[in-house]
Amino acid sequence: MGIRVRSTLLDALEWVEYAFQPAGEAPPDDVAYGHQRHSATVVDDAANVPPKSCESDGIIGFGERPVAVYTADCLPVLIADTQQRRVAAVHAGLKGTLAGILDRTVERLCEDGASPDGLYVAIGPAIAPCCYELGEEMLSSIAQSFSGSLSHCWHREQPHNPFAVRPQAKATQHGIWFNLPQLATEILLKAGVPAAHIENVGFCTYCMAENGASYRRNTHFNSGYQSRFSWIRRRGG
Ligand SMILES: [Zn+2]
Repeated sequence: MGIRVRSTLLDALEWVEYAFQPAGEAPPDDVAYGHQRHSATVVDDAANVPPKSCESDGIIGFGERPVAVYTADCLPVLIADTQQRRVAAVHAGLKGTLAGILDRTVERLCEDGASPDGLYVAIGPAIAPCCYELGEEMLSSIAQSFSGSLSHCWHREQPHNPFAVRPQAKATQHGIWFNLPQLATEILLKAGVPAAHIENVGFCTYCMAENGASYRRNTHFNSGYQSRFSWIRRRGG
């Protein structure tokens, strides 16, 4: 049974419909999504009808067609532009985040008439710092791509997750525990999105989600994994 994850911020926008679907559940029939490559490429929804017509990691919805991303442990980020009533779905793993996919999506919305303070952003289910160990040497390569301070984005000790429904990832190296949702948050803040407009649902795919939701858990237990679709659209009316 999949768990329904909701965003308080997006729930408050009556013109928006969205879902962070459980792993393995099919997306809506008329959805548009790209062939994802951990890139900074953002396209219009029409470019990915039918789905995977082209490579993109960010997709903008101009009409009522839902736009989606599929993820396992990477971040799905859903954005609503309250000024133009446009929406965007972003696939933001560590690599794509550092490549600039979030900045590029905000820029693209602003080229079309949005302003950053009119954007509302929900950061969906992804591997959280309770389960995301990286080699410490990764911090310096991350720092080369991110101009701000990383001090809030990682922990020396593995954080305990009181909401875990299965064991957290075991340390496999003397690494650090990285907070990708926090890095995404800091990038969005730098892009001008107000803190009050950014919500991290705080749902870890490794230790909180249904079975088969985590790519990394699969690499540890060979338990299999399935993609999770997250989508957003402007409501018809
Ligand atoms: Zn976890």
